[in-house]
Amino acid sequence: MSRFTVVFFGRFCGGEGHALDVPGDMMGLMRAVLCYHKVGLESVEGRWINVAPATLEKHIEFFLWRGYGVLPAARIFDQGVDRAISLTFDDAFTSMLENGMPVLERLKVPATIYAVSERVGLTADWEGCGGESLATWDQLREAQKAGMEIGNHTATHASFHKLDMAGQIAEIRKCHERLVEEGLNPETFCLPYGHYTLETSAAILDAGYRTGFTVEKRHIRSIDDACLLPRFAMSYGDSVMGLMYKLFIRPKISGHR
Ligand SMILES: [Zn+2]
Repeated sequence: MSRFTVVFFGRFCGGEGHALDVPGDMMGLMRAVLCYHKVGLESVEGRWINVAPATLEKHIEFFLWRGYGVLPAARIFDQGVDRAISLTFDDAFTSMLENGMPVLERLKVPATIYAVSERVGLTADWEGCGGESLATWDQLREAQKAGMEIGNHTATHASFHKLDMAGQIAEIRKCHERLVEEGLNPETFCLPYGHYTLETSAAILDAGYRTGFTVEKRHIRSIDDACLLPRFAMSYGDSVMGLMYKLFIRPKISGHR
C-alpha cells in the first residue's frame, strides 16, 4: 500500500505540529455524514452528545483544507457527488443554534438540523436526554434563512423499534406537516436513536421522503438504501485525530468502508 505523510499543524490538533502516516488511499473519494447533537462548552453542556464549538470548527476546517465539499444532507446521495461530507445536528438543541450556527456561518458551510416537531421550543424529554432546551420555531426559521436545511426527526422522537409501519408513517407525516406549516422546507428525515425495522424504508418513502439517515459507522456507498443512509456519531473527545480515526482508519481495519 502506498503511503504518504500527512502533517497536522497546531491549528487542527491544538498542539505542536506532528506527522502521522496514513495509507494513501484513505483520504480519497468518499461521502460521509457526521452526526452531532449539542454544541457547547463542557462546563455548560457536559460531554454527553455534545461537542465544543472550537472542535466543530476544527472538524469543518479539516475537510475544507482537504478540499471536500460540504453539502446539506438532502444532497449527499445525489448522483455525481463523490467527495463530500454533510454535517447533521439531531434534535435542534438550543445550544446548537446559539453556539453552532456562528461557526457554520463563519466558515460559510451549510448543515442540516433535525427537529422534533412536538418538542420545538420546549425541552428534550425522551430517553437519554436530561430536559435540555430545544430551539424555537423562530430560531429554526432564522437558521433556514441563513442557508441551513431543517429536517424531519419525527413528531415525538419515538423509537421505530416500537412502532408498526402505520405508526412510523404517522410520526414522519405529522412532523412534516407541522414543519411546513411553520414555513420550513424539510427534505430529509433522520431516525431517532438510529432505530429502524424492516418496514422503515417503505414507511419513509410512503411519507414522501426520498432520503433518510440512521447511525452506522461507515461511509455512504452507491448501493445503499437511500432511506437508511449511515452517519458517523461524533463525540466530545473527537479531536481531528479522532475524527480521522473514525472516518479513515477504523473503517479500513473493520473492513466495511
Ligand atoms: Zn434524536
